[in-house]
Amino acid sequence: MAERRLSHTELERRLKRCQADYEAAKARVLSVGFICEGSLVERFTSCHKLNCRCQDPEHRHGPYFQLSWKESGKTVSKLISADDAARYQEWIANRRRLESALEEMRDLSRKAGEYTLAKDDHQYLGPIRPRQSRRSAR
Ligand SMILES: [Zn+2]
Repeated sequence: MAERRLSHTELERRLKRCQADYEAAKARVLSVGFICEGSLVERFTSCHKLNCRCQDPEHRHGPYFQLSWKESGKTVSKLISADDAARYQEWIANRRRLESALEEMRDLSRKAGEYTLAKDDHQYLGPIRPRQSRRSAR
């Protein structure tokens, strides 16, 4: 591994950087608000009735907000009122912030593990990129 060839000073420097970034990610986790699974899309639809205004793509019905998430491997969708859409949007954004902070913590931990062990000239034997397997599930 390339890290083993780095000087002790360079390993220390990188490890300190990992610690600072890790603390910053932890702070983001602590400050995150309530969360919601899934994603919200805004839809405009056509009812296909002749003479309805929706025949013009500029005047379709909507917006309708559709919340979708995975449940036991299946996609579940619910229509959300325009009034509530902003709340769901915020909770979903919070969940994405939380997940992104956690993924960063995973990556930083892996790097920190490599640097820590490399200082003793040991090799890191944990999983290489734990985030890969999680990402593909979404
Ligand atoms: Zn219509």
